[in-house]
Formats: sequence, structure tokens, C-alpha cells
Amino acid sequence: MICVSIGRSRHKHMLAEHAHLVEQGAQLVELRLDYISSRVNIQRLLKDRPCATVVTVRREQDGGKYTGSEDARMIMLREAIANGVEYIDLEDDIAGQIPRFGKTKRIISHHNFRNTPDHLRELHAKMKALDADIVKIATMANQPHDNLRILEMMQESDCPTIGMCMGDIGTPSRILGPKFGAPFTYATFHHERALAPGQLSYDQMVNVYRHNKIKPDTAVYGVVADPVGHSLSPQIHNAAFGEAGINAVYVPFRVPFDGLGQFMEDSNRLGIKGLSVTIPHKEAIAKFLTKVDPAVKGIGAVNTVLFKDEEVLGYNTDYKAAIDCLEHALGGAALPGTPSPLHDKKVLVLGAGGVARAVMYGLQRRGAKTTIASRTRSRAQVLADTFGGKCVEWQARHVPTDIVVNCTPVGMHPNVDESPFSKANIKPTMVVFDTVYNPESTLLLKEAASHGCRIVTGVEMFIRQAALQYLLFTGQEAPEGLMRETLKRAIGPVKY
Ligand code: NAP
Repeated sequence: MICVSIGRSRHKHMLAEHAHLVEQGAQLVELRLDYISSRVNIQRLLKDRPCATVVTVRREQDGGKYTGSEDARMIMLREAIANGVEYIDLEDDIAGQIPRFGKTKRIISHHNFRNTPDHLRELHAKMKALDADIVKIATMANQPHDNLRILEMMQESDCPTIGMCMGDIGTPSRILGPKFGAPFTYATFHHERALAPGQLSYDQMVNVYRHNKIKPDTAVYGVVADPVGHSLSPQIHNAAFGEAGINAVYVPFRVPFDGLGQFMEDSNRLGIKGLSVTIPHKEAIAKFLTKVDPAVKGIGAVNTVLFKDEEVLGYNTDYKAAIDCLEHALGGAALPGTPSPLHDKKVLVLGAGGVARAVMYGLQRRGAKTTIASRTRSRAQVLADTFGGKCVEWQARHVPTDIVVNCTPVGMHPNVDESPFSKANIKPTMVVFDTVYNPESTLLLKEAASHGCRIVTGVEMFIRQAALQYLLFTGQEAPEGLMRETLKRAIGPVKY
């Protein structure tokens, strides 16, 4: 179950949001009385409450807004109990001063905004002894391992317990609560109004993470990256799991570069079955794998990991996705025994980073004639030498070519008025492929489309690599249409 926190300065807004949330299906709401800027009228807030309610008056020291006297706060808490509220939130240092009364259940809470302390179990035992119906411990995650510690503390506890890590490193602990026995977890009314660091909105919890469906046996997948907040993979993979009725959730794991080893060690206890891997871990993750597919060896980068029996397997779906997109634009993949439509085609690759590497590997395997240009010439030279292509200076990149592939971020949001290839050099016979997917209609693609070129979008590549990951994760064909629709909704409409 999800408890949605409402923090508004006016009673009428709090009442309106409470009613709205119940219409949206919320079954439990927390009223954060510390947000109310006038004298609090508890009776007005509780009289006709449309669902079970938690009353909380959080002090500044615990991350709230309450700055009044402690006596006045105690009176408010007692008054909420006297009005029969379903749950009252009492911090562990004051819970002993407010006795149990009536049917109100006691949430004994503790907040630590600095770290996730070592002594979680001792802390839990002390809190439980304060006549707790529910123990709630919220701590700051400074490393991904903190998630596992708080989730396991919750799982091993002998009374209902909510353990959550704050901050974006802590997001997995909020999503995975029900897998580890949380009676409920907290979400905010709107994603732009989080009442605690890293809190997700009710809409995200329900519609992206399908939180109400997460159970102890739910399989965990995710993307491991740093930063991870911009990733659209959780939206598309969770939508796909939902459509196929698969008991799995896909989680954003923010893992700093030096935290990858510990994260990989924790993965089994977190219930992780598969991962998408992105910057900065694509190369570094190789040393934690027991087997890799030939593309990983050729490219030197992993974008998918599968935990299967005792094996940790590495794959690269970027290269196949990019090549499939290009072959599709050229009329489809070759029949067995015949050359690829990319064979002998002149292809200009712009950029020399991870995506360019995957593209160059695929183009070499298909027998294309590549020329590569990058801002840093030496990086382009390495790829040309490794994958058998020509290398030209960035300034000399407008060479005659059949196909242009942009593997730089030029044109990506917010720099949408930039293009890596001058429109004066675009010819109607060209195929133009921009791997940038946000926005879908980059300036390069708009100009290419206006010249009558065949175009390939980064969205198409993104969906194909995600669909290949989904196939590896589940053994089933991905609902590509739904994934595409979900991604396009997330990045906005296309305009050519
Ligand atoms: P990367 O490893 O950081 O490489 C970026 C490359 O672009 C480098 O060669 C870099 O040159 C060059 N570059 C950066 N800014 C430039 C500029 N202003 N002008 C000229 N060159 C510039 O990144 P990546 O992982 O390869 O990703 C590249 C792009 O691919 C991303 O921005 C993203 O939009 C897209 N992408 C698409 C998908 C998909 O599925 N569609 C997946 C991943 C990425 P230097 O060496 O000089 O820095």
C-alpha cells in the first residue's frame, strides 16, 4: 500500500488534495500539519476524511516545517488521537510522552538526514519498545549498499516496519519496500513537491513502478548508472512488464563509479535478475561477469547483464539495435548467405564514444566502408584503427557518403538548434541516422527529412536495444509498440 503525503499551507488545499487522491485510488494519506501556515483546525481536516489518515507534525530538525513550541505540537498530536485518526506519527524521542489511546495506531518514526547508521537493528528494537504498531526509519543513503541494509532490517524485523533511504541513491528502497515486507511506503502528491529527498510521486509509484503489484517474489531488474534520474528505461521496461503481466519491477539504481563492486555483490540479495548498464559502468562492469557474448569482446563495452543460475552474463544490445535500424532503412536485413544492404556502403560516423564504438563494430561486421570524425581526433583514430575505417579531422567531416550516423550529443536537449552535419552537404539519396533520442526530431533529422532523405531516429535505436534487453530478461518478445509509445510520451511530440 502507498501512503501519500500532503503538505499544503491552507486547509482547503489539503482537503481538496485528500479528496482528489481518494478519487485516484489512494487508500492511505498522510496529512503533514507542519505545512499549514495558519492555526491548525484538526477537526476540520479529519471530520469527513475520505480514507484512512496518518497525522504528522514534523519538526524542522526531522526535515519538517514545524517551528512552534513543543507543547503546542504535543497538543496537536493528542487532539488528532482524540479525534480518532487511524495513525499518528510520533518521533522516537517524544513517543514515550504520548500514551496509546483509542484505536489510533502508533507509527514510531526516526529520521537521519546525514547517513544510514550502523546500529539499525538496535535502533529498531528501541523504537519497537515505545509501544509501536509500526516502526518507521528513514535515513540518508550515501552509498547504494545502504538500500540493502535498510531493506534487510525491515525484512528481518518482528513487527511491521517501514525502512526507507532518502536521496536519489535511496530510491530503490522506496520502490522495493513491499518485496521486503513494508506494510506501506510513502509517496508525494506531485513529483515536483517531494516532502523528503528522493520521494517519488503517487502517480510514479502506481503508474510507472506498479507498486501495488510488488510482492516478496517479484523479480527485480534495473538500470545501473550515475547519474540515473534522466533515464527513461524504467518507464518503458515497467510498461512492458505490466502489459505482459510479468511479476517484475525495473528500478533506477544510482551507483557511483567506485560503488559498482559492492552493488554487484549485493545484487543477489536485492533479488536482481538483470540490469541495463550505462555511463559510467559500461566498461568497468566487465570484471564482475563470468561470461560475455562475442559483441562485448569486440566492442569492449557491456550494456546488459543477466544473472542466471551461478553465471553473470554480459551482452551488448546497442550494436545490434543500431545495425538493425540502418538495415531496416535500407530495405531490411539480408537473407542468409547474401550480403547485408550495408555491404560496401560509405558510412560517415560522427563521434568516437561508446555508441560510436558499437556502431563501428557493427558496420565492420557488415562490410561497410567507414569514415570517422570526432572532436578529439585521437579517439576517432583509435576506432578507425580498431574497426578498419578512415579517420578525418572534425573540420573535414563533410565527405561524400551514402549514410551519416551521428554518435555525438550535438542536437540533444537543450541544445536543439545545433546539428553536427551541415545541411548544405545533405543529399536526398542519403540515409541519415541520429542516435540522439531526446528530442526525437533533432535539427539534423529535420533538415535531412526536408531534403527527402530516409531518416532513422534515436528513438528507434533506443526501443530496439531495450526490446533486445527485454528478450534477454524474460525470454519473450517485447511489446515494442507499447515501449515506443511510452518513450514518445515521455519525451514529447515529434515535429519534422
Ligand atoms: P560518449 O561516450 O560521451 O561520446 C560522445 C562523443 O561525442 C565523443 O566522441 C565526444 O567527443 C563527442 N562530442 C561530445 N560533444 C561534442 C560536441 N559538442 N561537438 C562534437 N563532438 C562532441 O557518449 P555515447 O555514450 O557514445 O553517447 C553519444 C550520444 O548517443 C548520446 O549523447 C546520446 O544522445 C546517444 N545515445 C543514443 C542511444 C540510443 O539508444 N538511441 C543510446 C545511448 C546514447 P570528445 O571525445 O571530444 O569528448
